[in-house]
Amino acid sequence: MNTANQTTLHQSRDIERIVDGVATSDGAGVKLTRALTGKLQRRLDPFLMLDAFGSDNPDDYIAGFPDHPHRGFETVTYMLAGRMRHRDSAGHEGLLENGGVQWMIAGRGVIHSEIPEQEHGVMEGFQLWLNLPARSKMREPWYQDFSSASIPEYVTPENVTVRVIAGSSNGVPGAVTREITEPLYLDVHVPAGASFSTALPATHNAFIYVYRGKVKIGDTLVESRRMGILNNTPGADGVTFNATEDARLIVVAGKPLNEPIVQYGPFVMNTQEEIHQALGDFKNGRFA
Ligand code: MN
Repeated sequence: MNTANQTTLHQSRDIERIVDGVATSDGAGVKLTRALTGKLQRRLDPFLMLDAFGSDNPDDYIAGFPDHPHRGFETVTYMLAGRMRHRDSAGHEGLLENGGVQWMIAGRGVIHSEIPEQEHGVMEGFQLWLNLPARSKMREPWYQDFSSASIPEYVTPENVTVRVIAGSSNGVPGAVTREITEPLYLDVHVPAGASFSTALPATHNAFIYVYRGKVKIGDTLVESRRMGILNNTPGADGVTFNATEDARLIVVAGKPLNEPIVQYGPFVMNTQEEIHQALGDFKNGRFA
């Protein structure tokens, strides 16, 4: 595994707000917590949604997400534990397993299913929706599966382990690089007593989501199953947090698009007219 020293920051961003998320279900009844809801899309532009799922009760996940469409954005599924089979209308198929990532650009349209391939045990992970710029919303669809072993990782001198899913952190490039929104997506494991810093571009909106233990940023404690929105503090060049007990969290940042956001379920476009078009195209079988 790579080792990396940490950049010394001038100033860390602090926590603007802690978000509890909303318990909901989606697909064919998969129970999940929607941490990033529609109300936060403007504040956390270019991110549109973050769902956290995690259960050891098959009733909460077994039915999965049967065939459904997407248009106008990207979906990033990070599977911490479990097995999920993906199939789409373009004939692609893949199995997402423990620690793996699926990155999909829906573009002008994909119809796909995401179905658990396990009948017991824990299924845990995240699905993040990343918006596409107006000029790319109707591009060709694309996706790639990344096995856990293919996600770059590094360890700091304080034994913090960092998985770099997208962007780059402390000089280590991640599995995915995207233009325009320049997303950063890290999974950080912080042992008790350690601290961690990573640079964040001043242009980016950013948040963390803690899924084990708790971390402290400045004077604010962010507990497990909470999202912390990071202030866009002028002059801050990154984020530093520390843990008094073992903690695991994702760190997500991206450059805002500052374009109109019109969402209707799995379609996210810039105007109402484009939503009508998406519905019409879907109904008439014009999706990929
Ligand atoms: Mn989907």
